[in-house]
Amino acid sequence: MKRVLSDRYFLGRKCIFCDKNQIYRLKDNRIKCKQCNKYYSIQKLRTDMMVLYYFYLEISARKTANELELNYKTIQDRFMQFRKKIAAYCNQEAKKLNGEIEIDESYFGGKRKGTRGRGAKNKAIVFGILERKGKIYTNIVENVSAETLMNEIQNKTLKGSVFYTDGWKSYASLHQFGKHNIIEHDKELVDVNHNHINGIEGFWSFAKERFHKYHGIDKQNYPFYVKEMEFRFNHRNENVYKLLVNICIRRAV
Ligand SMILES: [Zn+2]
Repeated sequence: MKRVLSDRYFLGRKCIFCDKNQIYRLKDNRIKCKQCNKYYSIQKLRTDMMVLYYFYLEISARKTANELELNYKTIQDRFMQFRKKIAAYCNQEAKKLNGEIEIDESYFGGKRKGTRGRGAKNKAIVFGILERKGKIYTNIVENVSAETLMNEIQNKTLKGSVFYTDGWKSYASLHQFGKHNIIEHDKELVDVNHNHINGIEGFWSFAKERFHKYHGIDKQNYPFYVKEMEFRFNHRNENVYKLLVNICIRRAV
């Protein structure tokens, strides 16, 4: 397991929440912080760190429960709590995207392969906006109408950006927000004008590869799984476990 916290937190010398060292032990052996008034059990902290580490490694809840000899339902609940905290973090760090921007939608879940708008029952439509050399923003949308998609684009991008999309009709008025380049999927295009959406297609593969590993995700939980993928993709070159500890355990971000 990667070591991301100093031993001082596990020896009860430093507060996991506020980093101050004015802490003392309660009768039941829990730690209480004089600064922030929060208390916690070091044993529970160790377990939480371990459960989060398995989550970080993308090990299933079932396997994690087996390995750690913990209750499956408890692990499932913990993993969902992590996803909810991650989603909140994603929303908090989201800024308007700008520069060269790739836009696309994709269908997640369900078994049937359907074309746009059709066969989409039991599937979630994920709308994605990716800033080249920057981050991706995703959202689950109800439909792929011009009204829905243009609204998202207006809210999440800066005017004057350079947009790349395929020829879907809902993007027809995108030129009002900036330069609009339409790519054609069928043609084999030499990448002379950077006219492609390979970046966002890379994200779809990244997310779907992971999504397929889960069986029977409750549809109401889709947004949290998708946000988890967004988070993992956006931070793939960082120390993700450390970031997860800050988000899910220390609540320091
Ligand atoms: Zn504290």
